[in-house]
Amino acid sequence: MIAVRARLLRERRAERIAMIRYQIVSRGVSHRRTLAAIAKVPRHRFVPEALRHQAYDDAPLPVGHGATISQPYIVAVMTAALAPRRCDRVLEIGTGSGYQAAILAELAAVVHTVERVSALAREAADRLAALGWANVVVHEGDGSLGFAECAPYAGILVAAASPDVPPALLEQLAEGGRLVIPVGSRAEQELLVFTRRDGTLERRSAGAVRFVPLLGEAGFRR
Ligand code: SAH
Repeated sequence: MIAVRARLLRERRAERIAMIRYQIVSRGVSHRRTLAAIAKVPRHRFVPEALRHQAYDDAPLPVGHGATISQPYIVAVMTAALAPRRCDRVLEIGTGSGYQAAILAELAAVVHTVERVSALAREAADRLAALGWANVVVHEGDGSLGFAECAPYAGILVAAASPDVPPALLEQLAEGGRLVIPVGSRAEQELLVFTRRDGTLERRSAGAVRFVPLLGEAGFRR
């Protein structure tokens, strides 16, 4: 496994370094651990074969079943906002390709990620295992309800657009924890960052974004 990871680190590394410099740092993301994690994850291994040549473009890409791997800059903004520590347990909603989960897995102790489309959940779990990430657990289900079994989480990242903040996610957030979530209409959302502190929630906005919808009980109802 160590040999697999060492080889993957070298694959298309120059393109990742250029992506970080010209798409991410240039737009103001400077969180060092986030940049280091992005440099380590071979994004081209998470996109369909036919799109691999575009893997390091400044754009989101379709990964099948209605899922979209976010633009690298947006992945960086969300990861830096969450800023997981090495000992943290974090939750991601919307596994998709597993790319964002792999980046979180570089930073946190363990990542639980929930995906509603079973084919995506299966493929992402297989991919992450094959690429050597042993600290990601993929669950199939409705992530608008969070994942209560392993709560609380030091960080929760929602990779799909929600009409409101799902109450379960706030309940499953640890004291001092952060929730990063795009909230708005199906057409456009605001990226919100909540921090739980002494029973209150601090809230800030990280800008306008566009995600695929969170479909489920506390998300969009089709
Ligand atoms: N983070 C992913 C991109 C996710 S795209 C990556 O890095 O590739 C959004 C994903 O959210 C899609 O895969 C979609 O199927 C999933 N999704 C939508 N509603 C969901 C829900 N209620 N629970 C879990 N996953 C959901």
